[in-house]
Amino acid sequence: MLSSTDCEIIKTMQNPELTIVIPCFNEESNISQIVFRFEQIAAQLPSFEILFVDDGSKDKTVEQILSYKGATKDFNIRLLRLSRNFGHQLALLAGMRSSLGEACVTIDADMQDPPEVIPDMVREWKKGYDVVLGQRGDRFKDTWFKRTTAAIFYRIMIILARGDFPANVGDFRLISKRVVDVLKSLPEQSPYWRGIVVWVGFKRSFVTYKRAERFSGETKYPFIKMVTFGVDALFSFSKKPLLFVVYSGFVICIFGAIFLSVYIFLKLSGYALVPGWVSLISLITFIGGFQIICMGVIGQYIGRIYEQVLGRPQVLAYPPELVVPSEQKH
Ligand code: UDP
Ligand code: MG
Repeated sequence: MLSSTDCEIIKTMQNPELTIVIPCFNEESNISQIVFRFEQIAAQLPSFEILFVDDGSKDKTVEQILSYKGATKDFNIRLLRLSRNFGHQLALLAGMRSSLGEACVTIDADMQDPPEVIPDMVREWKKGYDVVLGQRGDRFKDTWFKRTTAAIFYRIMIILARGDFPANVGDFRLISKRVVDVLKSLPEQSPYWRGIVVWVGFKRSFVTYKRAERFSGETKYPFIKMVTFGVDALFSFSKKPLLFVVYSGFVICIFGAIFLSVYIFLKLSGYALVPGWVSLISLITFIGGFQIICMGVIGQYIGRIYEQVLGRPQVLAYPPELVVPSEQKH
């Protein structure tokens, strides 16, 4: 379990209103740009801290961050070092666990998501929204391949997982402390925050922005990692693939039954058929289908066990707000 005391304090500030969590994996060439960009917008933000989460970088990311030790800035900088590379989503979890602010913003280190949008997010939060999602207005800076695969992925998620899954939303978001508290209490081993943030509910709002190109360095999400990420997302939010197994079993069974009926009909009508062939095929098809149905049924139970093991709370609620005292009876 990590706590805020596990962080290296580069400059102290007791209770910042906002924590900016920035996961970094080999991002040495982006650190000074990050600090520069936040200096530019510091005046538009409430008191804040930047919490760098070093996800086991092998380059000079840590040295770059530590070079700010003793520097005077309008904001606090903290560094949390993970013991090895755990991956982007777990780096975000570690950051949220160590967040001190009343709200927490997560943003990538490569400045593809512009920090200049954060003041708008803060405004939405102050209006009472607990979740403010950064939504990419256009993705023309992304490759055709990335845009197409992303579009397919969002459709699949909407159909199979959640109808309210927002398209073109990444991990650039602001969440209030109460949402942070829910997220960090979840025992999920492979959290997919974009889905979980939708699942938690609460009042949510969007801020649209233009996604820029990576400031420097290379993407840490090559194709295979992206596919794994998508599969994680789907399976941690949908049991529908298991239902497809059951349905496909039924379809195969029905084929088997049709084969068999046609065979019997032709036989009774006196057609000369190759002996044993159709009956064998139809029986194999029918039994094969039945086995697939059985697997699907077992899968349904495993799906329920999985849901139980995920250990998400059954229900989340706001604390009671409206209190109307009843009349005292004497
Ligand atoms: N990242 C991380 N650990 C990893 C991979 C990525 O902390 O194992 C961070 C990375 O440094 C960046 C963010 O996650 O701040 C998003 O990565 P990237 O920009 O490479 O993803 P893309 O924008 O290409 O999808
Ligand atoms: Mg990026």
